[in-house]
Amino acid sequence: MSRHFVIIGNGAAGFRAAKALRRADSAARISIFTQERYPFYLRRQLGDFLTGNLTLTELIFQSRNTYRRERIDLFLMTRITAVDPAAHEVVFASGERVRYDRLLVATGTDAVPLDIPGAALDGVVRFDTLRGAIAVRRALDQVRRAAVLGAGLVGLKLAESLASRGVGVTQLISGDRYWPEMLDEAASQSVEAMMEDAGIALRRNADARAIIGTGGSCIGVETADGKLLGAELVATGSRRRPATDALKGSGIDLRRGVCVDSSLRTSDPDVFAAGDVAEPTDAPGFADASTEPDGNRTPFCWQRAWAQGGQAAAGMLDQATPTQPGAVRMRTNVFGREITVIGAGHLPEGEGREAVQLQGPPDTYRRLVFERGRLVGATILGTGESVPELDRLVAEGAAREEVETAIEPAEAAPGDAARTPQTFARHCPICAAELVIRCGAPAGSQIRCRACSTSLVIQWDGESLWLEVSRP
Ligand SMILES: Cc1cc2nc3c(=O)[nH]c(=O)nc-3n(C[C@H](O)[C@H](O)[C@H](O)COP(=O)(O)OP(=O)(O)OC[C@H]3O[C@@H](n4cnc5c(N)ncnc54)[C@H](O)[C@@H]3O)c2cc1C
Repeated sequence: MSRHFVIIGNGAAGFRAAKALRRADSAARISIFTQERYPFYLRRQLGDFLTGNLTLTELIFQSRNTYRRERIDLFLMTRITAVDPAAHEVVFASGERVRYDRLLVATGTDAVPLDIPGAALDGVVRFDTLRGAIAVRRALDQVRRAAVLGAGLVGLKLAESLASRGVGVTQLISGDRYWPEMLDEAASQSVEAMMEDAGIALRRNADARAIIGTGGSCIGVETADGKLLGAELVATGSRRRPATDALKGSGIDLRRGVCVDSSLRTSDPDVFAAGDVAEPTDAPGFADASTEPDGNRTPFCWQRAWAQGGQAAAGMLDQATPTQPGAVRMRTNVFGREITVIGAGHLPEGEGREAVQLQGPPDTYRRLVFERGRLVGATILGTGESVPELDRLVAEGAAREEVETAIEPAEAAPGDAARTPQTFARHCPICAAELVIRCGAPAGSQIRCRACSTSLVIQWDGESLWLEVSRP
């Protein structure tokens, strides 16, 4: 009899797992349950949707036909409320149950709820779903001023997109610098400078005490020191925590996230977890991040979720492919610059820790953090070439001598606008798989992403290299 693979969540990890399961097992029944109303979409590119750089069709990337063709049963707007491992069943809000042979929990993260007066007013938005992004896009005509509460990837992308749409954006920062849970001091300063260059006003040491409204709609924010700030749109949702609600009471081991071993198996042998919800209990790069009380420290990474979807599928099929213990915690592109944080790359010096800044061309920044002579983290701005290598070295806890020989100083690229003068590593703008663009590749030529098969065009202007989705 064919097996039934059930997946909770249709994000990067869940969708990738479903496709991998189908490729490996043509007879299996595969069901995805998601509380969202849209099929799989590129969550990390919601900002591009808001600015109009990506249409809804481009964002949704694979239509419902893909699921039909692949014989994957997709259940939209279906929330799983509990898992019963003894009975091998998932439970819906209605109490109905569905049996699984193997289960994948790929539920990502939830926003930490905003607990201040006015949080339910119209105009207070969370920019973490397509539904939310559509609502923000619709509201834009009425929005002249916006306030972004709390630092993090979601707010950063929203602030960037709103500013590029001509909205006056104020970013409230709790402490005296941007996102210290993720960025070291110099990286914070760089991000702050990018925000200010884009016209975003920064209010440091400013927490929101209440959101002020009239007629049910928000008109501003009151800060803890009693100041008022006009805003027709207030964005929250940057602070996140793994979405583990469905597993509470199931007996499956939970810490901040769902505990998994190196094959992404949970404490129940037939239940797997992948993506932002999964907490590897044996990966050194994540150990520090996952035990922190702050929701922002949870690893939060599209590339990792996509990779783990494939690895979880292998585990569910009993294929022995141990997880690559990558330690990237954040990788993004904002204001035209790439930012990556690996492992404990944000931590300051002290307590046996030493930070070393590597030489490189202007506008790039590479800081390595060593603890007792072992590499525990890195922060990289403006260049992505050394990311895969540093990720591996952090995950392995490499010794300093090994790191020095493995990592060459980043070379400045001479200005040849026709061909790439060196080998570059970039990630696919669709699935974030790592792609290598060989030295001498002609600008304007096409490559195909080996992970998601998207056709991409190499854009090289003599100084920087980026990939764009090829449009017919
Ligand atoms: C605006 C924005 C910008 C981002 N930018 C970047 C970036 O530049 N780089 C980067 O690396 N990452 C970025 N991210 C983060 C990235 O999108 C996530 O790391 C990635 O989507 C995680 O994939 P996942 O499959 O683990 O979870 P998700 O993509 O969050 O998918 C989980 C799905 O499970 C569903 N779900 C949850 N609980 C249940 C339940 N009980 N029943 C049914 N369904 C459920 C959720 O609704 C969701 O659809 C960004 C995120 C946002 C919101």
